[in-house]
Amino acid sequence: MIEATCHCGAVRMEIDHTPEILTDCNCSLCRRLGGLWAYYRPEQVRRVSGATIAYVQGDRTLETHHCPICGCTTHWQSLDATSERMGVNVRMMPPQVLAGVRVRKLDGADTWEVLGEYHFLLGA
Ligand SMILES: [Zn+2]
Repeated sequence: MIEATCHCGAVRMEIDHTPEILTDCNCSLCRRLGGLWAYYRPEQVRRVSGATIAYVQGDRTLETHHCPICGCTTHWQSLDATSERMGVNVRMMPPQVLAGVRVRKLDGADTWEVLGEYHFLLGA
């Protein structure tokens, strides 16, 4: 089990397991948020505490959530309640759990193709 928290600690989530792969997207929203995403099924992520504020994008398919106090983006979820997928911003996880995890560089800004891969490098 991994705990993910925003900077001020108001928002806490418990996540079933370490991410196996991460997505680094360059779309107009992700590049501004600086998020790094791991995808989970909604039942694998439990909100332990903290209300969040949702931002709904133009195409109204998903909403990104952030802490109202410190502003950290914590996750996104689909507006389709039957969706099997949500994204957790792994920047809220302890960096140690991400060391060496594969990161896909997704061209969400244009082609939606994976441009390449790298491994999460744990800073000294
Ligand atoms: Zn916060």
